[in-house]
Amino acid sequence: MPLDRPRGGALQRLTDGFDRFRGLHFDADPELFARLLERQAPEVLVIACSDSRTDPAIICGAEPGDLFVIRNVAAIVPPHVHDGQPHGTASAIEFGVIGLGVRHIVVLGHSFCAGVRCLVDHDAAARGFTYVADWVEIMREVREEVEGLVTEAERLLVARRAEQATVLASLRNLMTYPFVTERVHDGRLALHGWYFHFGWGTLQAAESLRGPFRQLEAGQAPKPAIGEVAP
Ligand SMILES: [Zn+2]
Repeated sequence: MPLDRPRGGALQRLTDGFDRFRGLHFDADPELFARLLERQAPEVLVIACSDSRTDPAIICGAEPGDLFVIRNVAAIVPPHVHDGQPHGTASAIEFGVIGLGVRHIVVLGHSFCAGVRCLVDHDAAARGFTYVADWVEIMREVREEVEGLVTEAERLLVARRAEQATVLASLRNLMTYPFVTERVHDGRLALHGWYFHFGWGTLQAAESLRGPFRQLEAGQAPKPAIGEVAP
């Protein structure tokens, strides 16, 4: 029996979507959900922005059970600290890496990121954001980097440069977690930095922890920025 739901609007679209999901997955592939009921075993952890246009499961066509996902403002990975305080992003990374044994971590940045703009313009507090101001400040090194751009051409590209630099800084911060570096070095884990330009409909990958970003070729497995795991 379908649930009695209010008609129309954004929430109606979501509940209609759930009905389609149910038909597509539960009804069409009951074995998959029987397996997922026992355990999850995703190979990929994705750290993405909360932006509504960059849902990694949607843009990468993932199926239920494929991705362990962390989303926050600007897809930021804070550096490892051990200060006895609760850390949401770090705890999810720990769970994905140690608990689930993921083989790949993808940091997924994107174009026109409002979080990165708050960082670069240094105006989150002025716009009334308290938590956002403190959060994006983790990446102050990125602001300092783009403030050093001097030519007119460079200044025009500052937002895109800052968005990609934030992905690279997050990858380097991942390497400050001992359980990440250990697994990268012994071949159990690879780190990837991807950049989704939704204005152009393209996906780029970082070639190293310092870039550059190159367009992903269709049909080719993307190379990690660091680490190498068996296929
Ligand atoms: Zn964003």
